[in-house]
Amino acid sequence: MAKSSEKNDKAQLEYFERKIFDLKQLIEISKGLNSTLEYNVLIDSILLTCMGQMQLVKAGIFFKKNFDDEYFSLHRNHKGIELNRDTDYVIPNDSYLAGLLAGNDRCFTASEIYADSNVSPAEKDMLSSINPTLLVPLKGKGKFHGIILLGDRIRNCDFSDEEKEYLLDIASLAGIAIENAYLYEVATTDMMTKLKIHHYFQTVLTEEIKLAYQILTPVSLLMLDIDNFKEFNDTYGHLCGDIVLKNVSSLVKKNCRQIDTAARYGGEEIAVILTRTNLDDALNVAERIRDQIASSRITHDGKELKTTVSIGVTEFDRSIKENNNTMIARADSALYDSKRSGKNRVSFCTSGGKTGDINGPR
Ligand code: GH3
Ligand code: MG
Ligand code: MG
Repeated sequence: MAKSSEKNDKAQLEYFERKIFDLKQLIEISKGLNSTLEYNVLIDSILLTCMGQMQLVKAGIFFKKNFDDEYFSLHRNHKGIELNRDTDYVIPNDSYLAGLLAGNDRCFTASEIYADSNVSPAEKDMLSSINPTLLVPLKGKGKFHGIILLGDRIRNCDFSDEEKEYLLDIASLAGIAIENAYLYEVATTDMMTKLKIHHYFQTVLTEEIKLAYQILTPVSLLMLDIDNFKEFNDTYGHLCGDIVLKNVSSLVKKNCRQIDTAARYGGEEIAVILTRTNLDDALNVAERIRDQIASSRITHDGKELKTTVSIGVTEFDRSIKENNNTMIARADSALYDSKRSGKNRVSFCTSGGKTGDINGPR
């Protein structure tokens, strides 16, 4: 009798020790996940946490790339998953599969999903090409943010009920971190153009200038203004003008890297901070943007309309005392050179007062 109660005590002690260990781990995971508002870093952090904690060979996350997307797509930071070129890795918002995971606070095994006749064959095919073993809903503050897909385990064993509970705990911490990142994204984004807002631009530029002094990397700034936009609005109406502004913004974003910052400076003016980019490269980016906007067309009332933009470019110069205003003033002055010399062109202005266009000497 005494022996069996001793055994029970020992088992209970082990159980509580394990629980304390798990809680400590969760606190560390929470600290890690809440240390960034950057989506990319966050997704990496979530995946690596799951893989490390569960000893997985692969993992991925379906989530909304843009906050107004109507589908969840496989985030590009997935680990160990081989993609098939012909497959669309998306799960629509209103699909049965999304509803199933959103509506239940539990993990689903892949075999449960394959056996469910309500899940569409296309989604089953897509999932089976990834070949996950477990799907974990990602929820935060009552909202459904996506699905974590976990692949096989290194030790090739099933997930225990306790592990599934633990994964749900990790997913709810991850969900809160994602919700915070989402709110930050919304607060710093101009809803109409999907570019960053003016205040965010100023903050990033200050940081970039600080960094450029510290680690000797170049940084350049573009200021872009739509040509004759007032006339365009007066002729075709403001709604049509808005479509043009959105199109211009989207082409600017498409021609920048993820690490660059494209912001709506004000009205129809856009500023772009090109990280680790010197004047020559910045001029090439600006010229590509100018060219693509000049060749794109907007259809309005059956008519094909075109717009052009003027751009001014400048590069940070560590030999002078730079701040946001000095760089913005030079980019602005180059922009007005582009306007004065006929619009639809790219000009630059250096800190030494050298000016010119893309074809001239620097
Ligand atoms: P320039 O080539 O010299 O830049 O001429 P412009 O007509 O573009 O310049 P101006 O600064 O006189 O006019 C800017 C216009 O941009 C005026 C304003 O109505 C329009 N604008 C600013 N923001 C928006 C917007 O959000 N939507 C629309 N449709 N128009 C906007
Ligand atoms: Mg303007
Ligand atoms: Mg203008």
